[in-house]
Amino acid sequence: MTQRLTVLGSTGSIGTNTLDVVARHPDSYEIFALSAATQVDMLLAQCARFNPRYAVMASSAHAAQLADKIKAQGLKTEVLQQPDALQAIAAHPEVDAVMGAIVGAAGLAPCLAAARAGKRLLLANKEALVVGGAVFMRAVREGGATLLPIDSEHSAIFQSLPEDPATWAQRVDHVLLTASGGPFRTRDPATLSDVTAGEACAHPNFSMGRKISVDSATMMNKALEVIEARWLFDLTPAQIKVVIHPQQIIHSMVQFNDASIIAQLGTPDMRVPIACGLAWPERIASGAAPLDFTQLAALTFEEADARRFPGLHLSWQALAAAPGTTAVLNAANEVAVAAFLGGRIRFDQIHALNLAMLERVQPDQPDSVDALLALDARTRAVAGEYVQALQH
Ligand code: NAD
Ligand code: MG
Repeated sequence: MTQRLTVLGSTGSIGTNTLDVVARHPDSYEIFALSAATQVDMLLAQCARFNPRYAVMASSAHAAQLADKIKAQGLKTEVLQQPDALQAIAAHPEVDAVMGAIVGAAGLAPCLAAARAGKRLLLANKEALVVGGAVFMRAVREGGATLLPIDSEHSAIFQSLPEDPATWAQRVDHVLLTASGGPFRTRDPATLSDVTAGEACAHPNFSMGRKISVDSATMMNKALEVIEARWLFDLTPAQIKVVIHPQQIIHSMVQFNDASIIAQLGTPDMRVPIACGLAWPERIASGAAPLDFTQLAALTFEEADARRFPGLHLSWQALAAAPGTTAVLNAANEVAVAAFLGGRIRFDQIHALNLAMLERVQPDQPDSVDALLALDARTRAVAGEYVQALQH
């Protein structure tokens, strides 16, 4: 049966990789709706190629531009302009599956709408889970949604765990998230204050969006993934460990109570976890090159150096603190990364800002999405002032 798919953030790195996999299986997947922030021409080209019923842009000005171009090309796609259009295409009764590939907390509301509507939710947008935490997981349960991780580490853990989640607590000792170490793994930590946005975005193995690229360079990406794993697999923070593995062949592992470890391996290509999420529990072609063990020089592992990657440990700190603290950490980091990419703060000030926000912003027991989004906004305001103060 054909699955009807909404792709939230279809013009990004995960979005375009998703459409690449979908295009390989025209009989199995149909694109119902696509969305983007500002890339009008790219979304137009995707509409021409995949002929979705709906397209959504983040601002009405961009939506109007897209609507004009769609009309001029004689396409049938309707451009939705209402403020909650993303939620509408995520929860539409005719949609089977939703790919959450928006970057940042902006993806929380539409992903939650998909969860509440009981969709098959393919979640790449880790920030949604870091902000949403228990509230997000409750929506998944109550909505009867199927949550499938797309982040490669979490897909690896998901594939390594037994199929019945009811058995995880008794059988699993801990999970081990692998990390590439990013572009500054071997750089002298004393020189990290001088790095440019271009250097931070030059990831050794992947071409990704700019935000996650900076997060990989600080290892805040791994910090967010620790929090993501806590919610996806209902683990205690102590059950989540991180090891650097620069080749990115082992995508993560699960160690069981008998000390046996199950890992998931493959070439580093996001189309693999995307194909896995699309077809689960079936398996479909992803387009990724198969792994050739005879061509691998070595698989190496090392500990993450806390001096080089001080942000990594903020995840365990935030998980141990009051509920909502992970939302504070995420908002702080989004402001810090944007300020770094905009040339307003130095690379090493990203961590200083994140740490300062954990000290300054006290969460007030947020138990709803609105409360979480208010906490997100409050943190962004304080973080914005902090950035301004740094510039003077
Ligand atoms: P990207 O920047 O390449 O793409 C982001 C997409 O979201 C674009 O389509 C953009 O138009 C849209 N978008 C951005 N801001 C928006 C807003 N405010 N409202 C609506 N739409 C908006 O990012 P990416 O690298 O594809 O990452 C997407 C998500 O997937 C992130 O949460 C990231 O952490 C996660 N992820 C990415 C990778 C990867 O390899 N790129 C791997 C694992 C997880
Ligand atoms: Mg990842």
